[in-house]
Formats: sequence, C-alpha cells, structure tokens
Amino acid sequence: MANWTSRDRMLAAFRFERPDRVPVYLNNALSTSRILGLKIREMVTNSDKFSQALIAAYELFGYDAVRITSDVAVEAEAMGGLAYYPEDAAVSIHEPPIESAEGLAHLKMPNPETDGRMPLMLDVIRKVRKHVGEDGFISASVMGPLNMASQLVGIGNFLEMIASEPEELEKILEFTSEVCVQWGMAEVAAGADLITMGEAICSNKTIGPKHYKELGTKYHKKVVEEFNRRGQRLHTLHICGPIDSILLDIADTGVASLDIDAPVDFGKARSRLGKRLTMVGNIAPIEILNSTPERITYLCKQVLKDREGLGLILSSGCNVPAGSPPENIHAIVNAAKIYGIYP
Ligand SMILES: [Zn+2]
Repeated sequence: MANWTSRDRMLAAFRFERPDRVPVYLNNALSTSRILGLKIREMVTNSDKFSQALIAAYELFGYDAVRITSDVAVEAEAMGGLAYYPEDAAVSIHEPPIESAEGLAHLKMPNPETDGRMPLMLDVIRKVRKHVGEDGFISASVMGPLNMASQLVGIGNFLEMIASEPEELEKILEFTSEVCVQWGMAEVAAGADLITMGEAICSNKTIGPKHYKELGTKYHKKVVEEFNRRGQRLHTLHICGPIDSILLDIADTGVASLDIDAPVDFGKARSRLGKRLTMVGNIAPIEILNSTPERITYLCKQVLKDREGLGLILSSGCNVPAGSPPENIHAIVNAAKIYGIYP
C-alpha cells in the first residue's frame, strides 16, 4: 500500500499484518482539556467542548487514533448513581445506585440515547467521527463488567462480595456484562471503531489472580463472544497496574488486544503472548508527566524494538496526566514515526 491511512495502520496491527510503521495513540482524553484551556468538568459536561478538545489534540500531535473516554462513572450514573463532579478532575460515583444483588430488581438497562451522560458521549463520538472521516480511527470506552459492578455497588461492597458472596456477585456480573455489550455497540453505532473495556479492578493489586481466573475470565469471555457475534471484532482490555500472573488467562478470553500499563514488562509479555493478541502500551504516565523528551524516546524505543512480531501499537500505559509537557507527547508520536518503521 503506497499511502497508509491511520485506519489502515490500526487495522493492520489488529490483524497481525505489516503496516508501514507501528501505529500510535494515547490514553489522554481528559488531559486534552488543557489544550483549549478548559477545566475537566466543563469539558465532560459539554459535547462541543469535549469533541473540540479531542480534535485539537489529534491535530496538534498527529497520532493515529482518538481515544474517547471520560471516567469510570458514566455507566453507574446512567443507572441512578449519584456522581461527583470536581472542577478539574475525573467524575466519580459519590453514591452507588445499589448495595447488593437485591438492588438489581430496581435497576433497568440504561438507554444510551437518554440516560446520564451516555447521550453526551455518543454525541462526542459522532462529532469526532465527522472530523476524522473514514480514514481516521476511534476508540470508545466502556467499563468492563467487573469495574462496572464495583461502581454499581461501591468498591468496598464489591470486594466483600467477591470474597464472601461470589454467587450474588455473579448476578450483578450477568447484568453488567449485558450493559457492557449494549453500551459498547451503541458507541460503535455512533461511529467508534474499537471498544476499549476499562477493568482497573482486575489488576493483581486489587482483586488478585485467583478471583480473576475464577470470575474475570468468565465474564470477559462472555462479553468478547457477544461482541464477536454482533460483528464487532475490535475490542481491547485495559487493566491498570500489574497483570503478569493473569496474562495468559486474559489471552484465553479471546479479546483482540490488551492495553497494558507501565508496571508490566512489555517485551516479556510480548514473548509470552506471541500472536495471541495485539499489544498496546506502555509508556509510564509518570514519565510522560516528569521526564524529558530524550528519556521518553528511549522508553519508546524499548517498546518498539520487537515490532517484527507485528500486532503492536505504541501508547501510554494508562491515563496521560493533565499538565504533561506537549514535547513528551510529540516524542511518543515521533518515536513511532521514526523508530517504528517496518523495513
Ligand atoms: Zn489504566
């Protein structure tokens, strides 16, 4: 192919085909507020401002995909949770909508066209799609079934239930899996290409590998199979923090790609996973905030060195902190353009 578009490049990485260079994008949605001088609250409550900030960052840095995500509260808020909106930080759930599986009787499947900020997020996706056109690529977010359950009942209740009432928790996970699929497909209908499932709670530091193997894999497999059945084969799982001991279990779920955080050794994970899934990652957010462009370039080269294995996308490990120097974002994108070329 003579002229590779961003979309071609991203799709090649998902298909383990050889693009012209490694594609690059960032988990930086909230930090784009700074480019337009916005506070996070005014951005995430206004689809014009939100889409304008995302587009401004996309134009400024020239990466391959726009990652549209707001916070962990979107779904639980749409189901009746009381959300807290700090002026310049991510929205969180102040009062979860239910306390236990009994509360499920009072919950209904959220309607993406009317409930909470779901319509706003769909509007952001439509506006960004209009701008990037068919050659652009959009990742939209959903909370994975476990993270969403922890937002529905509160994290403390979730952790208690996973240890002492797993059957009750599974009733909630059945429901959140369904929400995850329906909400994800609504985002695809609005113009998203890729569904990124946020599952911070599945880190080895929170629920631990035993519970991931028992519960996480079951529901991730279920959600992935349902996306595939509906023709949506571009999905990725993002789990914050260390996940070394569950890497192979994640691959068993059939998810198309894994967006990994900085504590994981990227090269070692690549060699363990082979071509089972596309890997996205993993420049440490703290480095993006505090380091020099030279250091960032060095870190990117470490990730890019085994690009011959294909199925590789360069990105940040987790959320790029607001206030990160633009030179460091440029350094990441330039590294892909210079050191990510396939000969
Ligand atoms: Zn993360």
